[in-house]
Amino acid sequence: MNALGRHILVEFYDCSPELMNDVVHIENSMVAAAETAGATVINSTFHHFSPYGVSGVVVIQESHLAIHTWPEYGYAAVDLFTCGDSVDPWVSYTYLKDAFQSGHGSSMELRRGQLSLLKRNDFNLDALRDVAPKSIEADGTITRDVWFTERDENIALSLKHSGNQLYKKDSPYQRVEVFETLAYGNMLTLDGMVMCTQKDEYVYHEMITHVPMFSHTKAKRALVIGGGDGGTVRELLRHEQLEEVTLVEIDELVIEACKLHLPETAVAFGNPRLNLLVEDGIKYINDCEDGRYDLIIVDSADPVGPGEGLFTAEFYSQVYRCLTPDGVMITQSESPRFNSGVFVEIYETYKQIFGQDKVHCYLAAIPTYPTGTWSFSYSSKGNSQPLQFDREAAAKFSKEQGLKYYNEDVHTAAFALPNFVKELLSNGSQQAINA
Ligand code: SAM
Repeated sequence: MNALGRHILVEFYDCSPELMNDVVHIENSMVAAAETAGATVINSTFHHFSPYGVSGVVVIQESHLAIHTWPEYGYAAVDLFTCGDSVDPWVSYTYLKDAFQSGHGSSMELRRGQLSLLKRNDFNLDALRDVAPKSIEADGTITRDVWFTERDENIALSLKHSGNQLYKKDSPYQRVEVFETLAYGNMLTLDGMVMCTQKDEYVYHEMITHVPMFSHTKAKRALVIGGGDGGTVRELLRHEQLEEVTLVEIDELVIEACKLHLPETAVAFGNPRLNLLVEDGIKYINDCEDGRYDLIIVDSADPVGPGEGLFTAEFYSQVYRCLTPDGVMITQSESPRFNSGVFVEIYETYKQIFGQDKVHCYLAAIPTYPTGTWSFSYSSKGNSQPLQFDREAAAKFSKEQGLKYYNEDVHTAAFALPNFVKELLSNGSQQAINA
């Protein structure tokens, strides 16, 4: 060959949009395409962007294979670069056309490093050779960097995972997936949004439950809407005073996925005090009798998909109606940093329904949620005040239960809001744009 390498630029059209958004399938196909052509794979790194799209590269001893996908067009831009004669990039082309179910592929081959144009330098190659990095692990395994990314138009959160997806099913409501992340254990995502991870779920689930349970000590009946991962009801059921905990989760696949792959979060599903209903929380609350619950927790996903209806004034008015006169509503209320517009909007709604001075915001640090700063709302129908609680009892409970985040000091500190959050909440939506 009269060049150092062959570089094929490929356009795969009419591919399966599903496959073009399936980071695990794409990464496995690209690695297999390299190996089928006889290449030695050194490393691979792939990013899955939310809401969709995959970019990735497989580094081989003989150069690289790279891909960028546009699921919305069923299109993949691929380049196959191999040096020397031992690997035929057209073998990888054929493999990938089939793996991506491409209806139509076009390509162009470039010769890289025309020998006639290269002048060999006589610098000391041996010295260079000593510093060359190890090509593959001692035991022959390749290192794989496959990333899950959640983002909005400006910022992103990426978590590296093992590349073998533990769960992936589409329900009538959303795509339910579980990834095995390297730093945070198994991670549940819904439609590409992080819901919870084994390593840090306790922050969210302890704060959404024990704050109200210690400031509203007469609670006997609690309702959780959403919360299909089971963490919220697990924490509520630690409180013996609760006679009944009802969980209304619309999607049975979320329950199934967590029972299989986040068992410590789903541990309470067998508790006899739990009344588990698989149905729409909006319909449930509309049909629910007045004043039935002392505590209602809206543990919903973000205001998209099936969770969208859980962010409306109509829904919260129904929640208000279903609370006892002293009842308390707790919601996950997004982030003052990631969705500050939504954050401001939902607090305005809560204040209209519960009253200006009956709505309180508290914060927690949740590393796997975008920006890490997450908020909860505490809205009282009666006179329950979030900071009026028995510190001794909270301290004793936290110790006895071996809680990893909630304690009496965290309970108090969570309501100490930074100035920018206070401004967001007092000046409403105008501030959201400047935050
Ligand atoms: N901890 C997560 C967070 O902060 O985003 C949310 C927990 S949980 C996984 C969110 C749950 O709300 C999901 O399982 C979803 O299926 C459920 N959900 C969404 N809309 C619902 C509805 N209308 N009725 C009942 N459950 C709903």
